[in-house]
Amino acid sequence: MAKEYDVVVIGAGNAGLMAALNLQRAGKSTLIVEQHNLPGGCASSYVRGRFEIDPSLHELAGVGSMENPGSIRKMFRELDLPIKWVDVNDCFRVIGKFSDGSPMDVTIPSGRAEMIDAMEKYVPGTRKKMEKLFRLFDEVSEGLEFFSRTDKYDLKYAIKHFGNMLVVGAHSSKIVFKAMRLPQRCIDILSTYWSYLGVDLGHLSFLHYAMMVRSYLDEGAHIPTFTSHELSVALEDKFRELGGDIWFNCRADSIIFEGDKVVGVKTPYGDIACKYVMANVNDDIVYGKMVPKEHVTSRIRRLSNARKHKYSARMFTVHLGLDVTREELGINDYSIFMVGTADSEKEYSNMMKGFESNEFAILVCYNVVNPKASPEGTCLCSITTFGSPVDWNGLKPEDYAEYKTRCAEKLMSIVKERAGIDLFGHVEEIAIATPWTFARYLGTPEGCVYGHATSDWDDIISRTLQMNKDYPIKGVRPIGAGGPRGDGYSSAYQCGEMMAQIAIKELDGEAAV
Ligand SMILES: Cc1cc2nc3c(=O)[nH]c(=O)nc-3n(C[C@H](O)[C@H](O)[C@H](O)COP(=O)(O)OP(=O)(O)OC[C@H]3O[C@@H](n4cnc5c(N)ncnc54)[C@H](O)[C@@H]3O)c2cc1C
Repeated sequence: MAKEYDVVVIGAGNAGLMAALNLQRAGKSTLIVEQHNLPGGCASSYVRGRFEIDPSLHELAGVGSMENPGSIRKMFRELDLPIKWVDVNDCFRVIGKFSDGSPMDVTIPSGRAEMIDAMEKYVPGTRKKMEKLFRLFDEVSEGLEFFSRTDKYDLKYAIKHFGNMLVVGAHSSKIVFKAMRLPQRCIDILSTYWSYLGVDLGHLSFLHYAMMVRSYLDEGAHIPTFTSHELSVALEDKFRELGGDIWFNCRADSIIFEGDKVVGVKTPYGDIACKYVMANVNDDIVYGKMVPKEHVTSRIRRLSNARKHKYSARMFTVHLGLDVTREELGINDYSIFMVGTADSEKEYSNMMKGFESNEFAILVCYNVVNPKASPEGTCLCSITTFGSPVDWNGLKPEDYAEYKTRCAEKLMSIVKERAGIDLFGHVEEIAIATPWTFARYLGTPEGCVYGHATSDWDDIISRTLQMNKDYPIKGVRPIGAGGPRGDGYSSAYQCGEMMAQIAIKELDGEAAV
């Protein structure tokens, strides 16, 4: 082994880049090994003809405004990374059917007061209940902050200030909404966000839901001006400026131990010596392939079995460079959710049965908030749904191209029928990404991009509280979507930062011994 690093970060996804930058800033010599020739993982871009396409980002939570920054804007500011954020004005428009079968076409603006006004308009008489729901969101947010600061607290104080949070903490969003006696139509509208977490309301932890929705409504949603590649390149540049090393086109094969101690990472270009490894890799792959069997504890195996390899969202996306403006197509909303049913449990079950019964699609048109997202006279859209293992795991290679084209046509037809937006006939460029695209590019099992599906017993709160037990191998930390915080850009950045701080303490502790 040549140069020894304090830490090797495997993978330059959102979490890997953020972790590496924090480590290097704290004086830990850090190397990133990334299997591709560019940083970002999901957070990237590619070019088709005249169009630069973002392969993943619809919207990012936690950015907030200049005056009232959220955690992600603060994080980038703190790192002195001047990102040009674009505000996504409305939260969403949803078109489909309410649970009672009646037609649904609802637009929810961002901003708490605005959202409550809109809900009152669509479901008269809900103002007080919505205000109560937001008070609960606030209590959840303050409570989580309180409990994350210390594990020694005054129980009486906690019960007095966070009693409601403790009551709802163990329940799914559906149970809490029902207990609050929210009208079904109101629940139907609130359900729309379930797909951003990949879990239906019957299984989605209320705490997880509350944190995300509060952030999107109070802080708004954002995208970077120059695709998510702008974020990844900014992180990479800063990391290099601080003296960090990156090896692109280098795939890490396994983690090397001497006794119980991590001593390096095996790559096709030789072994790299280090004291600590952060793997921006799904935890089933870290423990199933990268760590030698004798170090994988029975708790790790039991946890993996309990999750039954149930992976969260496997995306299917059609990216379209169109030869007309969005105004000519009649697109006025940034994101339109087209739902088969507002009942998220039925919707999820239909999706998982396969594409024939999947009626769910999200249309995003980047030009609505960023007029320069594509050349003049054109617009750039994506349509996204979830793929099911039923369709993709058994598909023969010779049927792949025809099948993915058929799925893309179905999504474009859903957009035409439900939103009245006819994209057919205007396609200048098309790129279709299936779960296998993400599996191949990112190396994630079944192409999942959110890690393991969360559930009421296994949500980000319990995962964070159990972190040391769930990831018990000293010197090895899975980060990103495969780590404790699960899905999404903000979670990946937060996970990278949090795990880097833990690693710094552990490395300093070790040095002090
Ligand atoms: C179509 C789509 C739409 C999405 N929309 C949104 C959205 O609107 N908002 C949102 O917040 N999130 C969204 N997401 C989810 C979000 O992109 C991901 O959850 C997040 O980016 C995952 O980040 P990560 O750090 O886990 O890394 P990943 O993006 O999975 O990157 C991991 C990196 O590690 C590398 N790697 C893996 N194995 C190895 C190895 N053995 N050796 C070397 N390198 C390796 C990979 O090449 C990759 O670069 C979307 C995802 C998709 C696909």
